[in-house]
This record gives sequence, structure tokens and C-alpha cells, in this order.
Amino acid sequence: MLKVENVTKYYGDFLAVDNLSFLVKPGEIFGLLGVNGAGKTTTFRMIMGLLDCSEGKITLDNKPIDYSVTDKIGFLTEERSLLTKLTVRQQAIFYGRLKGMNEKDILKRLDELLEKFGVLEYKDKKIKELSKGNQQKIQFILAIINKPKLLILDEPFSGLDPFNVELFKNEITEMSKEGSMIIFSSHRMEHVELFCKKLAIIMKGKTVLSGDLKEIKEQYRKKNIFVKGDLTKKDLLDIDGVIDVVEHADEYEVKIENIDVSQRVFKEVSKHKNIMKFVVEEPSLNEIFIAKVGESYDK
Ligand code: ATP
Repeated sequence: MLKVENVTKYYGDFLAVDNLSFLVKPGEIFGLLGVNGAGKTTTFRMIMGLLDCSEGKITLDNKPIDYSVTDKIGFLTEERSLLTKLTVRQQAIFYGRLKGMNEKDILKRLDELLEKFGVLEYKDKKIKELSKGNQQKIQFILAIINKPKLLILDEPFSGLDPFNVELFKNEITEMSKEGSMIIFSSHRMEHVELFCKKLAIIMKGKTVLSGDLKEIKEQYRKKNIFVKGDLTKKDLLDIDGVIDVVEHADEYEVKIENIDVSQRVFKEVSKHKNIMKFVVEEPSLNEIFIAKVGESYDK
């Protein structure tokens, strides 16, 4: 298990990470979310032992993370850091050896992964000859070449097209099923929502929300109702407890204060003709994120 306990990081006088704590168990995918400058990369660097914590403690299976466990860890850095003059095969051998693998196993695993990601033909190409997206795939492949027990992914989806986001997500999910602990950062809530069960939202280095995604959504009082039919925006806005009504192409999204208001909305909607849709939904993670980040800006 990865334990981050009361970790604080100062750069000089500047407090970049403020008393952060979380746990990641085998098989869990944990999302560390936050706006630019929130402290995500700093946290990852401390986990990797590339930066010292000013206060607090980080352990993997109750031991400090140091050189002796690098073979169990994979890290995709935010700034892409490939040696661009080397070929993909040469890079893989270089990285794999750093992780304590022998050349035969490295090349076998490399072929499997290149095939899976549809880039087998680039094996003997230099990194600098590849497109940005393909370079990112190679960097991801290298981060997982040793089937790491702990995989840290700093903004893994940035610059990827939707098809490749899907490929990455599938691989990450598969690794978690095999027992890996995975932590990743992202600004893209729709990516997080689909496959991450636990998360923390940080803001100026401080946790503003953390826990199980399902519980976070249930506990968030505001809900949305999607309504389609012969009624006007005003009909909906006039209902007590309705905060806002957003008009989409052919339906309304009614934002309500809490679940009890849905009864009143239903009563009003039932008075109208041709109602084709009435669905109460949890808010999206994006909506919760924006609300939480907004609240902490206001403080
Ligand atoms: P982004 O999403 O933009 O990558 P982040 O959440 O990863 O941001 P960090 O890179 O961890 O954020 O930075 C957290 C804060 O610490 C920022 O205000 C940043 O300016 C500051 N910071 C980062 N590295 C240093 C450094 N080496 N010296 C001084 N301040 C730093």
C-alpha cells in the first residue's frame, strides 16, 4: 500500500503542498486532481523520492521509497523525457535495464506492448521521427515495461486523441485488475470519472475534497434533472428550489438544490403535455470540481 501521510513541501518560503494525506491500495486507481499549480507534480516527485518532503512521510508497503524499490515503480513524467536520438528499441533496453530486467524479457514485453498500442512498426525508428502522440505512447509503454506495482502518471492523457485515451484507459484498468496501484493527475474530469474510483482534489497544495467518487457524488447535495417536453424555461425556474435551468438543443437541464426538490419539479412537469423525458442525475465530477475550486477561491 502507498501511504502519503501529512506531507508538506516548501520551496523556500512558498508552501506548495500543505499537509496532504491519502492511501492507495493494491488494485486501486487514484486520481489527484487540481488546477494548474495545485501541487500535483510536486507530490509525484516527492513520492518518487526526487524531492524531499519538508514534513510528513511517504511509504510503499511500510518502507520508504528509495533506489531499492525502483524496479517496482513506473513513472510517466509531465515533461516528456525521452532520449530523442535513440530508437524505441534502444530506449526500451535502457529503461528496462534500469528497472533490473534482462534484454530478452525487455524485448518480449516491448513487442507485446508496441503491438497492443498499434506502433510495432516504430520499433527501430528514432524517437525524434515520431509524432507527439506516438512519443507519448512510447513513454507510457516504457513506464509500464516492468509491470510496476506502483504506477504514477502525470497528465497521461494530455495531447492524446480520444481513440488513444481509450487505449491508455484500458491498459490502466487491466493493470489495476492485476493488482497494481495507480495514481494519476489530470485536469480532464471526464477521463477521471470513467475509470477512477478514489480521488483527491487539491487546491494550492491543500485537499478540498477527497474520497470515493460514488460517495462524493451522493453526498453532493445538488442534482440535475433532464426534462424534455412542451414547457418553458420559466415554468421550471419558477419552482422553489430550482437554482438554474440550462437549455440544451432539445432538452432542459434543471439544477436543483437537493433531491427533495425533484418531487416539486416532477409535479410541475406532470401538468404539461408531451413529456418525453424526466431523469434525475448525479452532477458530473466536472461540476463538483468547478464548485469546489470556486469555493476555495472565494475563501
Ligand atoms: P500543473 O497542473 O500546472 O502541472 P501542478 O499541480 O503539477 O501544476 P506543481 O508543478 O506541483 O503544480 O507546482 C505547485 C506550486 O509550486 C506552483 O505554484 C509552482 O509555481 C511551485 N513550484 C513548483 N516547482 C517549484 C520550484 N522548483 N521552485 C519554486 N516553486 C515551485
